[in-house]
Amino acid sequence: MTLDWYGQHQPEKDCRCPRCGEMMWGPKARHALSRYAAITVCDRCGMEEALECAGMVEKRPLVKWCAIALPSIGRGLGEGERDHR
Ligand SMILES: [Zn+2]
Repeated sequence: MTLDWYGQHQPEKDCRCPRCGEMMWGPKARHALSRYAAITVCDRCGMEEALECAGMVEKRPLVKWCAIALPSIGRGLGEGERDHR
């Protein structure tokens, strides 16, 4: 599974951030667009990515993204993984 694939299948609202696994309540458009793929991430991850691009912090490898590391989140499941931060 690639992040672009995930972006195409990301629910329009109330989906999980594919990067950190955080719930993103409300419509997808309210949240941040990832710089790495056509996917929506939560505001915090959007900010972290901006810092990564500016070279302020170390890049988080894509394999660490929740949608990749925990594929259940990519399928919209993942209740009980709530405290994954
Ligand atoms: Zn996030």
